[in-house]
Amino acid sequence: MFRKFYPKNYAESTYDINYQKLYQNGYRGIIFDIDNTLVEHGADANKKAIELFEQLKNIGFKACLISNNNEERVTRFNTDIKMPYIYNGKKPSSKNYIKAMEMMETNIDNTVFIGDQLFTDIYGANRIGMMNYAVKPISPKEEIQIVIKRKLEKIVYHFYFKHKKKNIVLIGFMGSGKTSVAKALAQKLDFNFLDTDLLIEEGEKTTINEIFSNKGPDYFRQLETDLLIELNSNIKKTVLSTGGGIILKKKNVKILKQTGKIIYLDASVETIIKRLDGDDTRPLLADENKEAKIQEILNDRISIYKNAADFTIDTNNKTIADIINIIIKQGGVS
Ligand SMILES: [Mg+2]
Repeated sequence: MFRKFYPKNYAESTYDINYQKLYQNGYRGIIFDIDNTLVEHGADANKKAIELFEQLKNIGFKACLISNNNEERVTRFNTDIKMPYIYNGKKPSSKNYIKAMEMMETNIDNTVFIGDQLFTDIYGANRIGMMNYAVKPISPKEEIQIVIKRKLEKIVYHFYFKHKKKNIVLIGFMGSGKTSVAKALAQKLDFNFLDTDLLIEEGEKTTINEIFSNKGPDYFRQLETDLLIELNSNIKKTVLSTGGGIILKKKNVKILKQTGKIIYLDASVETIIKRLDGDDTRPLLADENKEAKIQEILNDRISIYKNAADFTIDTNNKTIADIINIIIKQGGVS
């Protein structure tokens, strides 16, 4: 639902963008927002900004300024820059994006927009299909109505970065098919496959059961958290299968939400027992009355799984292929 506000690219600063490369890729015109994109809100053009426009001219770019601010502000900024400009730009209205292209004699395929606000700058560029960069706003000192907008932007950015990483996280009870589904899904999407239990076993050079019985569940959960922090900043295009109890720690859920789209593989007690049949590596289920034990744990966890998930799949009576198809078709994964 936020996609129309997603920038095509994101840069920490207008001054970090590789303009040479943009030119090599066929771009010829750049439209800039001014406030918080090129200088602090309301500030005059500084040396850095003036040099940027010189550099752009040397590369061969045309440039234009569009600001929603007034004439006085825009002309004052432009005193030393001397670029074509549009004030009272009414972004996100597309009218002035088009006018800017006319002024630069460029077209929609070779023009880039650069700005700091998602709901005006970027949304406007997206509306007419123009390549764009969102940049981190230069100054934290902003007017109150912008401060409120920034809070909303933060929400959009949360989803944007998650979407960009494209990771898929599978959660669910042991025996819900996480590892098998994750492997097959990764292959189908040409993603990497990772499994937190396997990674922890590799790291500790022992089995999960040994860690549980020798060092206890708290130690194990801490290993999971440490691992999730590391994965969160490093993986992309990965299907991550997770330990059944990973969601028991709130912090883990919070990290997983940043890591990717969370899919809960829901399975009934009967299904779980069927799938775990012959598997004697699960100490939790050594219990005489397996069914009651699973039901008890599941009852405790089911709402946590569902609340953590972006999407829940009923996996009962479904093959791995069925489950993957549902994830791809209904889970918004590609
Ligand atoms: Mg701005």
